Amino acid sequence: MRPAILDPLFSPVSGLPGVGPKIAELLVKLLGCETPEDCRVIDLLFHAPFSLIDRRNQPGIAQAPQGAIVTITARVDRHQVPPRGKSNVPYRVFLHDDTGELTLVFFRGQAAWLEKQLPIDAEVTVSGMIDWFNGRASMVHPDYIVKAEEAESLPLVEPIYPLTAGLSPKTLRKIIDAALPRFPEMPEWIDLTLTQKQGLPSIRDSFHMLHEPRDPADIDPQAPARRRLAYDEFLAGQLSLSLVRQRLRKVAGRPAHATGAVSSKIMKALPFSLTSSQNDAIAEILKDMAGHERMLRLLQGDVGSGKTLVALMAMAAVIESGGQAVLMAPTEILARQHHATISKFAAFAGLGIEVLTGRTKGREREEILERIASGAAQIIIGTHALFQESVTYANLMLAVVDEQHRFGVHQRLRLTAKGISPHMLVMTATPIPRTLVLAAFGDMDVSKLTEKPAGRKPIQTITVPMERTGEIVGRLRSAIADGKKAYWICPLVEESEELDLMSAEERHATLVSSLGPDIGLIHGRMGGAEKDAAMMAFKNGETRLLVATTVVEVGVDVPDATIMVIEHAERFGLAQLHQLRGRVGRGDEASTCILLYKGPLGETGHARLSIMRETEDGFRIAEEDLKLRGEGELLGTRQSGTPGFRIASLEAHADLLEIARKDAAYLIERDPELTSERGQAIRTLLYLFRRDEAIRFLRAG
Ligand code: ADP
Ligand code: MG
Repeated sequence: MRPAILDPLFSPVSGLPGVGPKIAELLVKLLGCETPEDCRVIDLLFHAPFSLIDRRNQPGIAQAPQGAIVTITARVDRHQVPPRGKSNVPYRVFLHDDTGELTLVFFRGQAAWLEKQLPIDAEVTVSGMIDWFNGRASMVHPDYIVKAEEAESLPLVEPIYPLTAGLSPKTLRKIIDAALPRFPEMPEWIDLTLTQKQGLPSIRDSFHMLHEPRDPADIDPQAPARRRLAYDEFLAGQLSLSLVRQRLRKVAGRPAHATGAVSSKIMKALPFSLTSSQNDAIAEILKDMAGHERMLRLLQGDVGSGKTLVALMAMAAVIESGGQAVLMAPTEILARQHHATISKFAAFAGLGIEVLTGRTKGREREEILERIASGAAQIIIGTHALFQESVTYANLMLAVVDEQHRFGVHQRLRLTAKGISPHMLVMTATPIPRTLVLAAFGDMDVSKLTEKPAGRKPIQTITVPMERTGEIVGRLRSAIADGKKAYWICPLVEESEELDLMSAEERHATLVSSLGPDIGLIHGRMGGAEKDAAMMAFKNGETRLLVATTVVEVGVDVPDATIMVIEHAERFGLAQLHQLRGRVGRGDEASTCILLYKGPLGETGHARLSIMRETEDGFRIAEEDLKLRGEGELLGTRQSGTPGFRIASLEAHADLLEIARKDAAYLIERDPELTSERGQAIRTLLYLFRRDEAIRFLRAG
């Protein structure tokens, strides 16, 4: 149960003064809430200002610098009302102080209101931006107009918040001002020595300081209030991960004793030998699974490093112990492809393999479910469908989750909530910087594939302006005549699947008209069977050029494809470009990646393309990506809508993440059920940051 002390923070924002249904809708949008009911006061309080307006500058009219926000106290001389019917002429009010003259400009100004606010001869204080033109100072729509004797009431330093269309800064500020006093005193969960050493204010003070900045330094990520909130956020995250892990580990893993009966047959059938990275990773996995604790391991390896085979060897080990293994892929295509690859190798060991996705329907589905329930199915490959209610496993011992570069902590929680507790192997493609691994997974065990399979040639990457597309098409013609295979990737058109599709179809049509009919097309709107057919045709060589939208981004494996053309490369993020490029260079032929870009390139676009040209090192690319884009996108949170961080930033607060990680481990060790007084305070923290899913696991025991 949520501590009662938090009730005022968890009441809906619609209960705040000044928040009607319309504003409530805007807040839902602004704060990214799911529904108006789920939009709570605390969510509003986490909405942090990113800058501030300083109105303390009171230079006098003549000394007010162009474009500056200033506060001026002056006497009203006269009003100039626009002529009747000329609504495009503004209403002007003239003022003066000892230094000079100022014109206040109001478009569509209401005469009655202005006469009341700015009576002739009155001394007033106005605040806003100064604009100099032809030696005259003016201020368009001052932010504030008050009587001079009330100047004290002006907010001299004002926070500036991210807004959404239709919500004015003043309205938002009023609502936040109304929400702030609701923040209760709370028991402290941070160790006194840490608050003292780091100079951290209490949680309540931190929220006040967050919304009432006095100085630009208060907006800085390193401001004490922000550091406190960042630490708390990391601590909540690390604690909830630890609690989940503690719970996962409590359910004893069933040890898998590899006999080699299955794996040796597969090994014999392989046309290559494993890299030493692959061997190491397999050894680590087998060791984990042989113990009584459940395995929770992350397998990191750049695209093409051969993760699938490592997973297959792990699956072989549980099958040798009489268990089942699932492999969950993020997309249908990828699931089908894993199925094709794994079937090929597993056939040598005579294993029962099934594929189960949302597309599997009717009779076929029934039969597959039966084979899963009876244990006849030993390896089951699929999408989320694998964990639907209707699927019952005979003896699930290992779940492999192929997440590529998207994390899904939530999926793992769902799995556990279902009461399934197999060993877990999570595969991710882009080598993720350690700080991100920590933040997203906590202290997960990590295996890394650091080398590529032998014989891989480097991919030559070139950038070419779109004006030279014709030349590239010419080169493709001769490459295809030489028996090569190429991908042509069309970009995502912002927020429009329709246009996205059109651009791919159009490109397909122009390429067909210049290169001939044997060109495939694959995009997100196609049905599953159609996609499979297009992929197969390309794999078999019936088509030698495949025009695609980003559906081929993840994991698709056609080892003899050696040319990758990416159209409008400037529209892609680095991680995505790296993933796409990773589709080639998978065999022993030299490969080329052509980045077609439309100039002029912005600074970031330029930086991205240069990095792509410079390096194939996924680790370096991931770090550069982090610098260029911020961690949210890299974590995939922006696409999938899973909650990321509200205040904490991995770039600014990495030191705090380290501390939080250690503190969380210490706290959980001392008080695993969070029952002590400090433990109770910690529960409050978890609710405050909405990391309370983990508390369920405590009660479930
Ligand atoms: P990823 O890590 O991107 O998932 P895959 O598992 O799809 O990579 O492997 C990429 C390609 O490399 C596949 O065609 C796979 O069969 C091949 N491969 C895997 N391991 C080796 C190896 N040790 N030597 C040669 N080729 C390998
Ligand atoms: Mg893969």
